[in-house]
Amino acid sequence: MLLGCIGDDFTGSTDLANMLVRGGMRTVQTIGVPDAPLADEVDAVVVALKSRTNPAPEAVAQSLAALAWLRQQGCRQFYFKYCSTFDSTPAGNIGPVTEALMDALRDLPGADFTIACPAFPENGRTIFRGYLFTGDTLLSESGMRDHPLTPMTDANLVRVLQAQTRRKVGLIRYDTVAGGAPAIRARIAALRGEGVAMAVVDALSDADLVRIADACADLPLVTAGSGVGLGLAQHYRDAGLLPAAASAAVMPALDGHAAVISGSCSVATNAQVAEWLRTRPGFRVDPLRLVSGADIAEEAIEWALPRLADGPVLIYATSDAASVKSAQAVLGVEHAGHLVESTLARVAQALVGHGVRKLVVAGGETSGAVVQALKVSSLRIGPQIDPGVPWTETQGKPHLALALKSGNFGAVDFFAKALAMVHRP
Ligand code: ADP
Repeated sequence: MLLGCIGDDFTGSTDLANMLVRGGMRTVQTIGVPDAPLADEVDAVVVALKSRTNPAPEAVAQSLAALAWLRQQGCRQFYFKYCSTFDSTPAGNIGPVTEALMDALRDLPGADFTIACPAFPENGRTIFRGYLFTGDTLLSESGMRDHPLTPMTDANLVRVLQAQTRRKVGLIRYDTVAGGAPAIRARIAALRGEGVAMAVVDALSDADLVRIADACADLPLVTAGSGVGLGLAQHYRDAGLLPAAASAAVMPALDGHAAVISGSCSVATNAQVAEWLRTRPGFRVDPLRLVSGADIAEEAIEWALPRLADGPVLIYATSDAASVKSAQAVLGVEHAGHLVESTLARVAQALVGHGVRKLVVAGGETSGAVVQALKVSSLRIGPQIDPGVPWTETQGKPHLALALKSGNFGAVDFFAKALAMVHRP
């Protein structure tokens, strides 16, 4: 096995797996740390955790368990995957998890240093002089400043990461990256000399990702968004380490109903929900009604079941920043998140119990809650819907087509577009 990956949320893990498949790597995504060796022969495995917003010690413990399992599978390189918007708080978890993984890998030469590169140019995430942009906007001026759980108010990733780790953080700038792998390696050597253990790396294009991956092929640990995965896959292919013909990712036709569950409050998801509601049915889960003890999951299920035969339905908690803030003011940030996640997860369980076989889930945390409730253990990665989001097929029971969409991803008509690929009305 070439690459063992640890993803800090479910949609992000799927995004990385999608990149690796596009790069020609046979890839399986597991939900949590498996308790047995992998059955399939693959080039990469992504262990999907739900550790992005846990207390740091929990995230560290989960990540170390994933690493131990990946080492048992014989992986030669390890990859810690986080969000392309570097979702984290001063308490972590990107810094603490990276540190713990470096400590655990210290028996491997080169594990004293790693990179941090959330860039995903195809989706508009670029890094320039250490500052992360989403499209033309600085991260701190984007919708991410209002994220319910991990508001990002500083776009300077060196500063953001330094606040989360005791190790020294440095920068590998775009003009070094433009010099290719030799220039990047020379910069890494210089940074090591200055006592730097982690370096944020600028990246403006896919070509930069390939240069970065080439330079980092010898690092036991890489930390990044999904973008560097594309570069690494290309590096492995160029190095002759991959089977010549990568099998195309295909989805089997599945019978059954279709539904969309949305718990993301990102700008992109708000637009996608509004677009869906223009022509199709939806049920809104209002967290403030949950406080008064209303059984909204039950209401949503009663609303949805009779409609399934007529076509896909949407159940959503997606709201704009102002509504999220007022819910959080009453419930607290974490409690609001948990309440909504568990409500949506219960709805998903009931829908699958009543014959839904094609399910789109919007939101990283939301996807984690849904997939855990459905007891899905692993996913085979299928064709891409939009950059960063593939269809996946669950392995084992329940047999489902699942699309797990990270909040910020997807075109405005994402839900209908995704379902059109797998669902015949
Ligand atoms: P994204 O991928 O956009 O980050 P997530 O699902 O990871 O989406 O995070 C969104 C969080 O916001 C979840 O914990 C979800 O339960 C919570 N949430 C969803 N709707 C609301 C709402 N109306 N009020 C408060 N919190 C909400």
